[in-house]
Amino acid sequence: MQKQSTDRAIALALFSGGLDSILACRIIAEQGIEVQAIKFVTPFFDHDLLAHEHEYQQDIRDKYGIEVELIDLSDGYIDLLRNPAHGFGKNFNPCIDCKILMLNRARELMAERGASFLITGEVLGQRPMSQRRDTLNIIERDSQSRDFLLRPLSAQLMNPTLAEQQGLVDRDRLYGFAGRGRKPQVKLAKALGIKDFPMPGGGCVLTDPNLASRIERFYEGLFAFGQDEFLVNDFHLLLLGRHFRLPGGHWLILGRNEQENEAMLQYQEADDWRLHMPVRPGPMALLRRAAKMVTGREEENETVQRAAGLVVRYGKKTNGKVVAGEVLLEQEGEEKLLKAAPLPDAAFKEWIV
Ligand code: SF4
Repeated sequence: MQKQSTDRAIALALFSGGLDSILACRIIAEQGIEVQAIKFVTPFFDHDLLAHEHEYQQDIRDKYGIEVELIDLSDGYIDLLRNPAHGFGKNFNPCIDCKILMLNRARELMAERGASFLITGEVLGQRPMSQRRDTLNIIERDSQSRDFLLRPLSAQLMNPTLAEQQGLVDRDRLYGFAGRGRKPQVKLAKALGIKDFPMPGGGCVLTDPNLASRIERFYEGLFAFGQDEFLVNDFHLLLLGRHFRLPGGHWLILGRNEQENEAMLQYQEADDWRLHMPVRPGPMALLRRAAKMVTGREEENETVQRAAGLVVRYGKKTNGKVVAGEVLLEQEGEEKLLKAAPLPDAAFKEWIV
């Protein structure tokens, strides 16, 4: 986004898209300050928005009068999950370090945008882990943003920031909200003419018990992977389909429907092997990094046969029965047609992730 020519002070907002961040932007904009909102995305939250950023921006502009920009934080975030300094919440959510990372990135952007201060929609005491007073202090301290991080919804319960001390922002027109209740926010939304706002919750898969546990096990080295670096596409794959850890640690992903089958094609890498049934509806399968991780003819035959057996097992039934079928294997540009019998459930029960 281009910095607009303006004499007004500029605030950079961390924008989640939830009501609190919408309100934070509007409270500051009401004081005649230009608000530039930033929405960070990672494979764990809101990454899909990147594919239609302009529609998203237009939607937020139309509904709330807010200018928002998406920034992909994937690289730093994938590393952060290896060992967050402040640990995890109930699931695999490193909320404190997540916020510190976002604020650090926003702080870097401040100079570029000519912004005088940062704002967030945080509310004191609203979330158990990341919005307690002591945690908010840690977040400010570790992101070195104490003097210029303003939380308009709870500002009156906090020490004045530089923007308030210097008179850029009128502290009397900020708020003193605290706790988990949302009534004051809903009332304020009405007063500001904000009608159509999202309900809280959802959004971050790192708080979803099932997906978070799968991601955590992935980080723990669940699959034979052969490289230190994880790709964004590895996480896109982890969030869809059925997953199996085949003997030898090989990672097999099966699509559960046509949409997932298609999505998997986008995430395929050159060293993945792909299997599907050419003449019967069924799953697309990816043996992730198989070209690198499967060694020797015997291991190759066994692994491919197991994968083909699962493709047939989850394929469309014929006359109500799971029957044998032909599976096309694509390995680094070469194709082979295999005959495969469906694997009995007892044979692969232990492989399901
Ligand atoms: S819920 Fe997810 S996006 Fe939100 S602070 Fe925690 S880790 Fe970050």
